[in-house]
Amino acid sequence: MAHPLSERSQLRHLTAQLDELKQKGTHFRLRVLDDIQAPVCTYDGKKVINLASNNYLGLCDHPKLREAAIQAIRDYGVGSGAVRTIAGTMKIHMELEEKIARFKNVEACVVFQSGFTANAGTVSSILGKEDFIISDELNHASIIDGARLSRAKIKVFRHKDVAHAEELLKEVASEPGRKLIITDGVFSMDGDIGPVDKLCDLADKYGAIMMVDDAHASGVLGRNGRGSVDHFGCHGRVDVQVGTLSKAIGALGGYVCGSKDLIDYLYHRARPFLFSTSHPPSVAATCIAAFDILENEPERIERLWSNTRYFKEQLGHAGFDIGGKSTPASETPITPIIVGDGRKTMDFSRALFDAGVMATGIAFPTVPEGKARIRTIMTSEHTREQLDQALDIIVKTAKQMSIL
Ligand SMILES: *Cc1c(COP(=O)(O)O)cnc(C)c1O
Repeated sequence: MAHPLSERSQLRHLTAQLDELKQKGTHFRLRVLDDIQAPVCTYDGKKVINLASNNYLGLCDHPKLREAAIQAIRDYGVGSGAVRTIAGTMKIHMELEEKIARFKNVEACVVFQSGFTANAGTVSSILGKEDFIISDELNHASIIDGARLSRAKIKVFRHKDVAHAEELLKEVASEPGRKLIITDGVFSMDGDIGPVDKLCDLADKYGAIMMVDDAHASGVLGRNGRGSVDHFGCHGRVDVQVGTLSKAIGALGGYVCGSKDLIDYLYHRARPFLFSTSHPPSVAATCIAAFDILENEPERIERLWSNTRYFKEQLGHAGFDIGGKSTPASETPITPIIVGDGRKTMDFSRALFDAGVMATGIAFPTVPEGKARIRTIMTSEHTREQLDQALDIIVKTAKQMSIL
């Protein structure tokens, strides 16, 4: 018998839209992980080589992080009980923020519940409707949402096109509003690196605020994974640095680094900070342990990059379009295999899964129409043997489907 809610007509328009996705072949079901986020793990009861997670450094199940989380639960319980500004600021939250600030070599840091809330909460609170946001066309959804919430005027420049960004800045130079230049440090769908140094030059020239979202650069780029600002040697030139604790750091959260006044202001005005409960103490403890690992086990980052170079090389040799032709060229552990057609990409992803490789198909609207791709992500913990096995499966499956 159908559930009474599905008999109602109020949400029929959603069913119609889902039917449309099904027709296009881009409707998906969630894959469910049965065990641990790891290079080989079990989704939907099937053991697969995992090329889909953002667990760059294998920290999701690192014994020291597990131990830190368990100890924090023993010491401080499982919840913080309130938003940060009411009663939910625990000593361990402050300890994490101080640790990140030292690591990033900035005055201060504030941690949000996620990278998404860090971006959306920051962009929306530091600007108002008389201001301007100069934003790369491929910036993350959380930046776009933050920009919309700020009610500032949004000027979008062509991907990584610094000259276009300058044109847009010139157009609004005589307007009284503040200008914010914003870019991802690493772009999440193509794996290319934002021109942070050149955008800093523009910010200096036009007196604009400079902001970088380093979600995919945290723990990946720069010394010990300090991110794109460190990678480009732009210390002291980026007013607002956002990072995530949910990807390479292996836990959950987002942070903003900058001046003391920026952070103090966000305490007072960033809505996710003011109106949403802070992390459980175990999350903060996990992240503190993760930054210890970044500082003390740089060999993980070296393994990540050596796997990345190997995997890209092999995919290229096999003849795949891994970006650089029809799309930006990846320079990081995110390597897209461009297929083009949305339906074919989703079919390819399902066939790969059946053959033992988990690699997500990504189609419109996440990427432009005609640029659908399989997105692969390397981690430090994949063995050469696992990579060779995955490559073998990818090549065979692609040949069977006339993709190669
Ligand atoms: C993943 C991601 C975020 C969001 O981070 P979460 O911590 O997962 O909320 C923000 N920006 C970019 C570029 C990302 O890739």
